[in-house]
Amino acid sequence: MNAIEIKGLTFSYGNTPVLNGADCCVPEGRFAALIGANGAGKSTLIKMLLGELPLTGENGTIGLMGRELKLFDSWSQVGYVPQNGMASYKDFPASVEEIVQANLYSRIGLFRFGGKKEKELVHQVLSQVGMEPFQKRLIGKLSGGQQQRVLLARALVNQPKLLILDEPTSGVDKENTEEFYRLIKKFNREDGVTVFMVTHDRNCLSELTDDVWQLQDGVMKRVIEERKGENHGDI
Ligand code: ADP
Ligand code: ADP
Repeated sequence: MNAIEIKGLTFSYGNTPVLNGADCCVPEGRFAALIGANGAGKSTLIKMLLGELPLTGENGTIGLMGRELKLFDSWSQVGYVPQNGMASYKDFPASVEEIVQANLYSRIGLFRFGGKKEKELVHQVLSQVGMEPFQKRLIGKLSGGQQQRVLLARALVNQPKLLILDEPTSGVDKENTEEFYRLIKKFNREDGVTVFMVTHDRNCLSELTDDVWQLQDGVMKRVIEERKGENHGDI
């Protein structure tokens, strides 16, 4: 099954076309990257995947986890790390624990809101990303790398099958970026989470990912995987 299947996707903002018949598929279990120049339409594509932009019959089709987007209602299966994810917590005094817990679907009848089982899931995912010792800390007091790990925990707390990340490490230093990629890779390899990640960081691609898709002129093409040691130019 394909976790993501995009066919003939088009999108314009007013008269400005951004996507122009894009096709792409990400089989379940794969780690796929999406690259492309600034303004190529990567964030637009991600917003369409998440149902945040309108999709009519004329825009082509999107399938998520084998279901048409219009009929898709298993959003707990999709984890999302947005670009500039910290922006929503600016001037908002939320603790690490609260942020992760707020994203947990409450399964009526299974968990009582704020109950023990919920807390366990929150602590479990925080320890998986190495942030359990900081659970009571305000997120604004953490380093950039630590904040990213909290946003990753927030995305993973429902144990999603698909993880979508939009330039998750912009503004994070090299060491923390590598650490962050290792974490994502672990969730991909050990838990079978399908990953679709927008990135500018070309150096990480050949080592981390199974597939690289490039968005250019409104269409997507698969980029032949580069071998290590070859020249990595800027994107
Ligand atoms: P990327 O994520 O690849 O940098 P975006 O999807 O953000 O690209 O943007 C694609 C194009 O659409 C850009 O030219 C951008 O200026 C334009 N754009 C993005 N959002 C809007 C919007 N809300 N209204 C109008 N144009 C937009
Ligand atoms: P599923 O993920 O089982 O296909 P949906 O996401 O459509 O189902 O959700 C159905 C109901 O079950 C929703 O009310 C949602 O709150 C709950 N739910 C589904 N998955 C989870 C999960 N991993 N954690 C908590 N609640 C969930």
